[in-house]
Amino acid sequence: MSEIEKRAEIALCPFCGDWGAEVAESAVPSIRGGQKQAVYCNTCFCEGPTAETETGAVEAWNRRVAPVPAEGYVLVPVQPTARMERAGASVTCTNTEEAWEVWQAMIRVRPEVSGD
Ligand SMILES: [Zn+2]
Repeated sequence: MSEIEKRAEIALCPFCGDWGAEVAESAVPSIRGGQKQAVYCNTCFCEGPTAETETGAVEAWNRRVAPVPAEGYVLVPVQPTARMERAGASVTCTNTEEAWEVWQAMIRVRPEVSGD
């Protein structure tokens, strides 16, 4: 499997939504000698499940699903997107009622994440 083929078949990161993940040796020793393989996200630095082969690591990564929030909750990024910041900044806020309007404006334009 070439580097381009490996990158093309790795699903986006279930945590940050970025496509920059790649396969590398994990810290976990393999029973066959050497190290097990895992997919790592170069954006949020999370690590996928380990496997004996690169193909196995990619398959395990791609089976992971984004977390499903409980009823009444939505997924939002730790760092608001530029669009969310603009939406929040467009609302005047001097009290808790207006703070609620800022929050709603930002949540309305959050990035969509599967399971959201
Ligand atoms: Zn990530």
